[in-house]
Amino acid sequence: MNRRNLLAVFGAMAAASACPAHAQPYGAQGCRLLGTAADSFRDSVDLVDSCGVTLIDQTFPVERQILVQLFGVDPSFAFFDDRDGPNAFATTEQIAGPSAHGSVCFGTTLLRSELNRTWWGAAVAGIAAHEWAHIKQAERTRRFGLPWGPVVKRELQADYMAGWYLRRKNMAGTPVVLDGLGESLFNKGDFDFNNPDWHGTPQLRVEAMIAGFANGHMFWNADGAYDASAALVGIPG
Ligand SMILES: [Zn+2]
Repeated sequence: MNRRNLLAVFGAMAAASACPAHAQPYGAQGCRLLGTAADSFRDSVDLVDSCGVTLIDQTFPVERQILVQLFGVDPSFAFFDDRDGPNAFATTEQIAGPSAHGSVCFGTTLLRSELNRTWWGAAVAGIAAHEWAHIKQAERTRRFGLPWGPVVKRELQADYMAGWYLRRKNMAGTPVVLDGLGESLFNKGDFDFNNPDWHGTPQLRVEAMIAGFANGHMFWNADGAYDASAALVGIPG
């Protein structure tokens, strides 16, 4: 199934997005920063509260409140200058603030590129949700003492949960449109199977996100969506 067919199948339904899959400059696993990689990242960039786009600075705090409410985790958050490689990261390290859940960092270059999409709102929300899903994964694996497992499975689980997040927003009355979001995700997939940071093929990423969106009505909280997505991608719940 090619990209056009895939998008056509799901028509007016919407979907999520996620972090880019290209080479990571900070030694990350997927878009998750661990230990020294988080330290390296923090030392190499300025973490700031403002992205420089007034509309986003005004509206993202509201999105963040919804992310916290639905995912049940409350990481610190910051924007950063990612002109060397558009990206977004999640980490359990307290690099953006004091939250015990860790930090989510969203690059302003990535953000601006997403804002060029017709349906940028869902794309930006979906990328943030993908990163919040990584924080949720860290909380769940820590709580139950479970292994992280293959990076690609965690990335696809995060794509599923981004889809779930958008479905919950959609059910709460927020219009969610497929095209910009599906394109964003599709464009971030690749076929670099041997890359340890591999996020999945374009089709796998979109399908995971669509599964989360399609089944989102069944899960009122993130733990339910987490369990379903873990079973789907084949990792311990
Ligand atoms: Zn990711």
